[in-house]
Amino acid sequence: MTKTQTIINDFEENVIHTYNRYQIVLDKGEGMYLYDVEDNKYLDFGAGIAVYALGYGNKEYEDALKEQIGKIIHTSNYFYNEPGQRAAASIIKATGLKKVFFTNSGAEAIEGALKVAKKYGNEHKGGDCEIIAMEHSFHGRTLGALSVTGNAHYREPFAPLVPNVRFAEYNNLDSVKALVNEKTGVIIMETVQGEGGIRPASEDFIKGIRQICDDNDIILILDEIQCGMGRTGYMFGYQRYGIKPDITTMAKALGCGVPVGAFVCNDKVCDTLVAGDHGTTYGGNPLVCAAAAKVFELYDKLNVLDNVKEVGAYLYDRLEEIKNAHSNIVDHRGVGFIQGLEFDGPVKDIVGKLLDNHLITYSAGSNVIRFIPPLIASKENVDEMVAILQKVL
Ligand SMILES: *Cc1c(COP(=O)(O)O)cnc(C)c1O
Repeated sequence: MTKTQTIINDFEENVIHTYNRYQIVLDKGEGMYLYDVEDNKYLDFGAGIAVYALGYGNKEYEDALKEQIGKIIHTSNYFYNEPGQRAAASIIKATGLKKVFFTNSGAEAIEGALKVAKKYGNEHKGGDCEIIAMEHSFHGRTLGALSVTGNAHYREPFAPLVPNVRFAEYNNLDSVKALVNEKTGVIIMETVQGEGGIRPASEDFIKGIRQICDDNDIILILDEIQCGMGRTGYMFGYQRYGIKPDITTMAKALGCGVPVGAFVCNDKVCDTLVAGDHGTTYGGNPLVCAAAAKVFELYDKLNVLDNVKEVGAYLYDRLEEIKNAHSNIVDHRGVGFIQGLEFDGPVKDIVGKLLDNHLITYSAGSNVIRFIPPLIASKENVDEMVAILQKVL
């Protein structure tokens, strides 16, 4: 039996089967490439689902983590730690918002954001607040995050969930307006829908939502867990439109590989939670905060946003070529390094064949192949990816 097969058999015997995994055991990475335990090399246009923004093996990033491990990995949140102070300052500067709370994951950031918005609603609108979320959205797998996720297939086995959630159509302002009433306390949406099929908000839509929230004292939560941290060519996707949310959530690329997330509040809601209202054991520990602080530093040093703007535009042109050459591709959407090709049917087999040809991509929904490479990808990497894509199609 191969090393791969031995590991997979043993793993499957002991781990709950909630993922249909590829039959590959990844072992290490370098730059834009991953290697499996048999030493096969893969070009990575998935970044561990939009996580590994700096690519694999960035020395300064790894040294910062090693240095922190040499000091202390964890303290409880009953004490302060210096990496936390640095990471928080970077997040506040980058978001233009007021105060941050550190979490361990995206879903946990959404839970916290919803708690802030619900408490604000209870205090300002009487209890029983209604939440407006979007069809085809994805906000995570915990019960609160699941309640606002616009995919009935994910929600239904776990009903009943958080009550008073209504779903509107993304990029259709009238469908949102139709749901707004005096009890509406929260609107939650992704700035660019990720898992649901790579859909950027139209400018009219997101500005219209901001206006509705301003006019009705509704808290706007923009989920930037996938599209934030530079993926659109802006540090946060909402900065492309010149608007700000009341609360934003981030995770995935925030730690570039270590589990760290955050929700960030503006002036209006940053004092809604008070001591005793919320907590987490690991959230914002020194190790993950040392990583996050270093990530912001390296984005500056490596001009990551400029690279995403420039190479992202090139990726857009190359994917347009592909779309125009294949009648089974019905749409091409996205911006920067969060783009997708929508096919006229499920893409599972194509994604599998790309993998056979040593290119890692992920689907988004059933019909979309998503391109979310590390943010350091070059035009040569795009050409290499496109050559494999052309061959497989
Ligand atoms: C991945 C994702 C989440 C959930 O994050 P986890 O870290 O998996 O809990 C939430 N929202 C969006 C937009 C995501 O892409």
